[in-house]
Amino acid sequence: MTKPKAYSIDPIGVIESPFKQKFAIPRQPALAKARGKVKLIAPFDDVNTLREIETYSHVWLLFLFHENLHKGWSPTVRAPRLGGNARTGVFATRSTFRPNGIGMSAVENLGVEQTTSGIYLHVGNIDLLHETPIIDIKPYIPYSDNVQHATATLLEDKPVPALAVNFTDNAHRQLAQQPHSDLQLLIENCLSQDPRPAYKQSIADDPKTYQVQLYNCDIHWQVYQGAVWVNAIVLLS
Ligand code: SAM
Repeated sequence: MTKPKAYSIDPIGVIESPFKQKFAIPRQPALAKARGKVKLIAPFDDVNTLREIETYSHVWLLFLFHENLHKGWSPTVRAPRLGGNARTGVFATRSTFRPNGIGMSAVENLGVEQTTSGIYLHVGNIDLLHETPIIDIKPYIPYSDNVQHATATLLEDKPVPALAVNFTDNAHRQLAQQPHSDLQLLIENCLSQDPRPAYKQSIADDPKTYQVQLYNCDIHWQVYQGAVWVNAIVLLS
């Protein structure tokens, strides 16, 4: 058999997402109620490409893990679900460090919007970084994609949120002053999964303050006595 030639891929769009950095993005789309929109880019910015997409409640987004492409790949990776210690074959994981760096997420279809600035597909339950290049959109087909009796021995259950998330009075005040009505839920979804590195999760690091950007807000938080405390929500200019 001859070796297939290399192919190049032209992104068809780019996503606007509340996740401005990789840290604290959930590991899979169903773990946070995050909304975003895919902007089609030329020459694919033709509204006809989305004709009848409203007949599907969900779509697959295929995308590039563009922030990790320069880091390459290796045959085995440390899967976070195994505590970051055991190594698993790259093709037996959904790791971002993989040959070709392609990601796939089944997301909610929230509708098409055409404005003077472009053509957008609004999507919900996303796990994509802001400005991720989208290489394809395909309808989610329940009778085929929702495989009955499929098993995943190491990942049987959806991860249960590990930590309660609390807001200080200061953070509550600042939450009320920013424009995103879903920010509180998004913070709760992301931080309850305990996004700290696996080795930090088992040690007391109470004094350490972490920071993560969601939308145009910097969220300052720490883990104190086994729960997350959001101390400040700073609106960036
Ligand atoms: N649902 C996809 C899949 O299965 O292919 C992604 C799974 S991957 C484990 C999820 C992680 O990808 C997120 O936690 C986030 O940190 C990372 N991520 C999202 N967009 C990215 C991008 N454009 N470049 C690099 N990493 C990204």
